[in-house]
Amino acid sequence: MNAKVWLVGAGPGDPELLTLKAVRALREADVVLIDDLVNDAVLEHCAGARIIPVGKRGGCRSTPQAFIHRLMLRYARQGKCVVRLKGGDPCIFGRGGEEAAWLRERGVEIELVNGITAGLAGATQCAIPLTLRGVARGVTLVTAHTQDGSHLNWQALAQSGTTLVIYMGVAKLGEIREQLLAGGMATDTPVAMIENASLPHQREYRSDLTAMEEDACAFELKSPAILVIGTVAACATSSQWERGLPAMVADQTA
Ligand code: SAH
Repeated sequence: MNAKVWLVGAGPGDPELLTLKAVRALREADVVLIDDLVNDAVLEHCAGARIIPVGKRGGCRSTPQAFIHRLMLRYARQGKCVVRLKGGDPCIFGRGGEEAAWLRERGVEIELVNGITAGLAGATQCAIPLTLRGVARGVTLVTAHTQDGSHLNWQALAQSGTTLVIYMGVAKLGEIREQLLAGGMATDTPVAMIENASLPHQREYRSDLTAMEEDACAFELKSPAILVIGTVAACATSSQWERGLPAMVADQTA
């Protein structure tokens, strides 16, 4: 039997945001290796699979990547249906690319299953249209966290005219603000901070580039959270939507 591993996105947290294909993979799985940030509620779709937590919540501070690779390979070679379940999308800041390449090199067949990435989910849950027509011509997903010490071209980002969605930025708010200001972004650029997107305990806070670090501190913003930086981040909050079409969107539909 051919060894096969499914690399599956579990979405941002709300189990209803799981894809049908992810549900099918979970139903067929013999072994599921789950990451931090995966809502355990999605495991209800597993029929008797062995569940192996490989993130911090699993008791280990952080399971070494090489160990996870070997574990997937071992089970796949035993002919087991292996699902590697990751928060959000497996290929957005999720090491899906690395894992797929490593396994393919060893003759393992890979099936990648999309998940809704946290940045896109968080914005939509807060009624922020990331690419609002006439306001933002695109969206850029970036991480503020690098392991190799490389630097983003913040100036290019500041001047890109796209909405910035920043992952893993909670501990780097000061640095992000300084870099974007130095790159020429307007001091009053709207910022939305969204914690635990799509979960019942989701929290959001609207601020601007100058005040975001102070506001995040007062709001006690915690990881996991995403930042949305750009004009669209001033779009009405979900509760304002309930009361009628917000002004910025109404302008665009005129
Ligand atoms: N593969 C994941 C991202 C993993 S990196 C995805 O596609 O979503 C981990 C970062 O994702 C966190 O630090 C945070 O910035 C973001 N994140 C993940 N889940 C989140 C959630 N429910 N709400 C807000 N941010 C989240």
